[in-house]
Amino acid sequence: MRCLIVSDIHGNLAAFDAVLEAAQGYDQVWCLGDIVGYGPDPRECIQRLQSLPFVAVAGNHDWAVANRLDLDEFNADAQQAALWTYEQLSPAERDFLAQLPERLVIGQFTLVHGSPRYPVWEYILQPSVARANFAHFDTPYCLVGHTHVPMIFALTEDGSRCRTYAPRPDGPLALADAPRMIINPGSVGQPRDGIPLAAYAILDTDAMTLAFHRQPYPIEETQRKMDEHALPRRLSARLSFGW
Ligand code: ZN
Repeated sequence: MRCLIVSDIHGNLAAFDAVLEAAQGYDQVWCLGDIVGYGPDPRECIQRLQSLPFVAVAGNHDWAVANRLDLDEFNADAQQAALWTYEQLSPAERDFLAQLPERLVIGQFTLVHGSPRYPVWEYILQPSVARANFAHFDTPYCLVGHTHVPMIFALTEDGSRCRTYAPRPDGPLALADAPRMIINPGSVGQPRDGIPLAAYAILDTDAMTLAFHRQPYPIEETQRKMDEHALPRRLSARLSFGW
């Protein structure tokens, strides 16, 4: 099976559509949460995802908009965007977000938004945090989002150390290279690694490879819509820089 792995779409339809167009030929979409929040097209992104063969887990922004999390945990810009997003969605769309599960297990893969230890909130950026999280899932591989930074954490054969590395540009990652890994495909709608291109990954469950990709999209189209809706300027500006 060929799976399109997406995370942190964040209501950015131009980015999501560019990824769907570029990915082509996938059997299923695996979404790692934060479909909405920040961006100008929350409804359209939900509807686009629902039009595809997909599975999805809940992100903190999804549950905030669905009233399952306290907005006090968010910074001022994120709060403003979450309140605006709430207003845009129908009750059925908010229910859809509320009912997203915290965790899914599909074959050899566990899917969560943040981390297997604290699925909705924890950021895995440091090897020490990744290392502690290997005890919290049973499958060989765990797919996470939330940090908006594409990254791989691999446990060594003897399980004593955790290596961190950025995705290789020269070809797909062979999952057999390490017995256990935590993998983040990066963010479709708000990259934060200094590269302002939509990020996604293609998982081939037969070959057991995972390829990371970056895709240009019309950033100014998303920024124009954010400005029209008076969403915080800082949120639209950061899309140009990928931070
Ligand atoms: Zn996010």
